[in-house]
Amino acid sequence: MNIALIGAPGSGKGTQAAMLTQHYKVERISLGDILREEAENRTSLGEVVKKYMQKGVLAPDNIIQEVIGKKIDTNGFILDGFPRTIRQAQMLKKILDQKGTNLNKAIYLKVNQEVAVSRLSGRQICPKCSKLYHVVNMPPRIKGICDNCGSLLVVREDDKEDTVRKRWEVFMNQTHSVVDYYLKENKLLEIDASQDKDKVFKEITKILG
Ligand code: AMP
Repeated sequence: MNIALIGAPGSGKGTQAAMLTQHYKVERISLGDILREEAENRTSLGEVVKKYMQKGVLAPDNIIQEVIGKKIDTNGFILDGFPRTIRQAQMLKKILDQKGTNLNKAIYLKVNQEVAVSRLSGRQICPKCSKLYHVVNMPPRIKGICDNCGSLLVVREDDKEDTVRKRWEVFMNQTHSVVDYYLKENKLLEIDASQDKDKVFKEITKILG
């Protein structure tokens, strides 16, 4: 099962990626998590990408290519946050061709801005295992503490209102065209992601089988 999840910030990509990974027993590749970890560890790559992430804009393709090329596994994957431009979609096709495999489906999690912003405004993340929470919709068992690993939850720096607005703009201007790309490739599956996370998951798995 080779899947890419496409969606605006707050569409539920991370949540669905975690659920689908467990269900299909494949690897989750979250570009955002990988880049955040690099930034946290202050690696040379991390120091470069941090500036882009803080502004809510996309990191350069040469960096993304370096990261993604090493991560793609031929035993199946759920891509979360990649591809985000047509060039990245072409990059993915080339990598998969070289590995003798291909993408099965690109799932577009369609959501309106109002729903997405309300989800992001209460979002918390575990800095250690990347599990996502929401103070109202998906709270941890103990306030502020990760259910999985006991770490203190944090709010992502780029979930602040101004940066969220910028990330939406980037999605509309640079990423939305990827939806048309996969429509033409006959790989697109569009899902109403404004629904509850379990309903979204059910719809996806019903279609994927
Ligand atoms: P995410 O966690 O998917 O919302 O990604 C957080 C940030 O990481 C984005 O706002 C970008 O700065 C960077 N990023 C993640 N994925 C990509 C990508 N495919 N191309 C470029 N930058 C990315």
